[in-house]
Amino acid sequence: MVLYYFRERIKGGVVVIRVVVLGSGFGGIEAVLNLERHFRKREDVELVLISNQNYTLFTPLLPQIVSSYIEPRHIVQTIRDIRRDRRFRFIRDRVIGIDLEKKVVRLLEGWISYNYLIIALGSTTNFFNIPGASEYTFSLKTLEDAVELRDHIIDILEHADHEENLDLKREMLTFAIVGGGYTGVELTAEIRDFIYRQAVKNYRGIDFGDVRIVLLEAASEILEGVDPYIAKKAKGKLLKEGIEVRTGARVTRCFRGGVEINNRDILRAGIVIWTAGVRANPVLDSLGVRKGEFGRILVNGYMQIPEFPEVYVIGDSAFVEGDKLRRSSQPVAPVAIEQARVAAKNIVNAIENRSFEEYSFSPSGMLVSLGMNDAVIRVGRIRLAGFIAWLLWNALHLLKLVGLKKQIQVAVDWMLAMVFPRDTAIIRFPRRCFICSGRAELYRDLENYKQERGL
Ligand SMILES: Cc1cc2nc3c(=O)[nH]c(=O)nc-3n(C[C@H](O)[C@H](O)[C@H](O)COP(=O)(O)OP(=O)(O)OC[C@H]3O[C@@H](n4cnc5c(N)ncnc54)[C@H](O)[C@@H]3O)c2cc1C
Repeated sequence: MVLYYFRERIKGGVVVIRVVVLGSGFGGIEAVLNLERHFRKREDVELVLISNQNYTLFTPLLPQIVSSYIEPRHIVQTIRDIRRDRRFRFIRDRVIGIDLEKKVVRLLEGWISYNYLIIALGSTTNFFNIPGASEYTFSLKTLEDAVELRDHIIDILEHADHEENLDLKREMLTFAIVGGGYTGVELTAEIRDFIYRQAVKNYRGIDFGDVRIVLLEAASEILEGVDPYIAKKAKGKLLKEGIEVRTGARVTRCFRGGVEINNRDILRAGIVIWTAGVRANPVLDSLGVRKGEFGRILVNGYMQIPEFPEVYVIGDSAFVEGDKLRRSSQPVAPVAIEQARVAAKNIVNAIENRSFEEYSFSPSGMLVSLGMNDAVIRVGRIRLAGFIAWLLWNALHLLKLVGLKKQIQVAVDWMLAMVFPRDTAIIRFPRRCFICSGRAELYRDLENYKQERGL
């Protein structure tokens, strides 16, 4: 292991100003590209991007990886390809701590000092301390999560295909999605498409009626807080497709093979997926600064930590002070991108002694995909549902993908999926499958639990 230490650099007798950006997601990439555009010709400013991944991930298409609609590599773009001849340095390493007093970032392989810092480390799944949730459910935050989930869904189809006990087969073929936000809704629609349109045809031992897809939402409606038109259309479509939408259903415990709802009901399920919320990256937990909801760092309108004005926090890691309606702090990509632009601009302003720009943002629309050939969108006053909305959804997402090569690859994937069956090859060993691990008896765990509790 190489340990590196980046201290201050001096060039021609002048101390080089170092701006470090942490995270290569929507916020981090936008910030470093904006900074680079401005400082391209300034030798006395050094830009460093640090991330644990050597790519940037287009998260809105993750549900389509789960449903084998598109290929995993097609929704990521490597940092080296994005950088080309741009003048910033990239270090692939994991941030393990930040010392705000000493202005140093600690990495797995060393440390680096900074003059200005942008924290864009995103978020992780929020399990809300529900017992068993982190152990027994699948998340959908990273590319690995999506590939792992896809493989486990196919794996369960393979096992269920030759299961002779009908009750057990139906239990295995129950898919529970926890969280009726837009990720949960889009994922539910994708899983439904994958299973009913493609998989059921290929697995002769599985009947249409054996499969059950259940969307569990603790609130009284799915897509709460989103446009009521979108919420109504989405719910109508899911119900029409035979998906059980259970609102007012708070998951209170998770087990191997099922969940407990409202401290009472048990839902047995072969796969449980948790999309019920996000919390700030755990690296931020140890920072002794004020936090907003779910561990997100409180920032002022310039995106700075007020006590450390050389440190900017953006995207899912940040919560804008005074944002009572949570509109300007929503954990969505356009917010991260706009905050990145403001943070980069204000670092330029600070270095060039100009006055600061304040962040303000109001989302211009909302798009929710409802599987193949269907979506619902609201952009300004325009509201659309159905095939045209689906085409627009596709076009907008294609445009937002970084790089022509990726845009072509995804477009081709979509076209191929219209003609050919989706790929159902298991490409990684399903390490969380206890049948594959030779521990099939663990299916009985839930039975034991029920007996213990007299349920
Ligand atoms: C399945 C899914 C679907 C979504 N769909 C949409 C959508 O349709 N529309 C929308 O607007 N938003 C969507 N989002 C939300 C959107 O992805 C986030 O709001 C956005 O990515 C936040 O940007 P960010 O820069 O703050 O964080 P991220 O984009 O998450 O980037 C965080 C970066 O930090 C890096 N990192 C994390 N920890 C470390 C560490 N310790 N050391 C070094 N690097 C680290 C990560 O590798 C990553 O590069 C979706 C999210 C998910 C999970």
